[in-house]
Amino acid sequence: MSSAGTQLGKPDSAKPQHKLYALLVEDNALDAALVVRALFKDGFDVTADVVQDEPAFTRMLRTHPPEIVLADYNLPNWRGMEALKVLRSEGLDIPMILVSGALGDVTAVECIRQGATDYVLKDGLARLPEVIRRALREKHERSLRRQVEEDLARKVDELARSNADLEQFAYVASHDLQEPLRMVAAYTQLLAERYKGKLDENADKFIGYASEGALRMQVLIQDLLAFSRVGRNGASASVDCNAVMQEVLQTLDSAIQESRAVVDCAALPAVWADRTQMAQVFQNLIGNAIKFRQLEPPPVISVRAEKEERNWLFRVTDNGIGIAPESAENIFVVFQRLHARTEYPGNGIGLAICKKIIERYGGKIWVESADGSGSTFKFTMPLHSSNEKEGIQP
Ligand code: ADP
Repeated sequence: MSSAGTQLGKPDSAKPQHKLYALLVEDNALDAALVVRALFKDGFDVTADVVQDEPAFTRMLRTHPPEIVLADYNLPNWRGMEALKVLRSEGLDIPMILVSGALGDVTAVECIRQGATDYVLKDGLARLPEVIRRALREKHERSLRRQVEEDLARKVDELARSNADLEQFAYVASHDLQEPLRMVAAYTQLLAERYKGKLDENADKFIGYASEGALRMQVLIQDLLAFSRVGRNGASASVDCNAVMQEVLQTLDSAIQESRAVVDCAALPAVWADRTQMAQVFQNLIGNAIKFRQLEPPPVISVRAEKEERNWLFRVTDNGIGIAPESAENIFVVFQRLHARTEYPGNGIGLAICKKIIERYGGKIWVESADGSGSTFKFTMPLHSSNEKEGIQP
């Protein structure tokens, strides 16, 4: 006899294998003994405590939580289904099986709906071991699933933290590197000016390399800083993409003239974003469409947007040199380029910035291209409640 209930001994006729500690909510000692016997016969090395009311049940849960609860439906002073409430209020995931003399189908279904794992009639106890095995299996699977979900949530958390750390690092590094680099650049420049032709030919060459390297590094650091600033700057508002495009076309005017590019821009919608960042996206995409053009014919660039169920889908299509499918993802990575700087100028930061901006607002960006026959950059921007009803703005 335990402090809270009656402990049942083991019949010693068979050779049980599976250790099981069960808590029985039962007023009839004979029925309890039959339950234990049925389990023992089926291979359970079972230890059981028996309780009849809520205080004893709660005490047992706290002092010696069982693997399974087997509850009679009707007790003189309590109801078996009440045990479920106690299990919940104690925050315990322990399967509870009703073991009852009589339980109509409707009641049984209702009990399972309320959270009982299963039910077994007392005159069908042979079924109980299998029901218990299944309940324990399901509980094990539940706890594995919970574990996986917790691991995943922890990893997402760690990833977000490490991303934020990296961003902070990139920002601080690029920001703080600017000052010493400015000195290196200024003094190599000064060396070049003062001593050009006064030392030997090699010295001129070396000073030239050093000052070129410093200038290049300045540009790279500024790019990195611009990239790391995307997550920090910018307040969202409704942005009319038509107005943004007009500004972008003005900014790119000399490149457009020089390349004899035709930019065909349909009416565009308003999106919820930061205006400067949206301009940056369009400028990078159209700038690239001009830069990566074929020798002939001149660039033809079209900008379109269409409404999907949850997004605006934007398309910037060109007739340029195209992108091999195997490079379609790489080009969005910082400093990734497909060509030498002597072929096409640039640092490989433009598309990485576009991706960061678009993803910041919950969109996606990708490219579709058959190598050699132009590219279509597509990106989505989620519909925003304030813009959803608005269509495309002519
Ligand atoms: P950058 O233009 O400075 O090289 P981006 O990040 O803007 O950097 O682009 C990365 C690379 O993607 C480019 O170097 C180029 O190889 C490729 N690319 C981008 N846009 C186009 C385009 N419209 N057509 C063909 N290739 C492109």
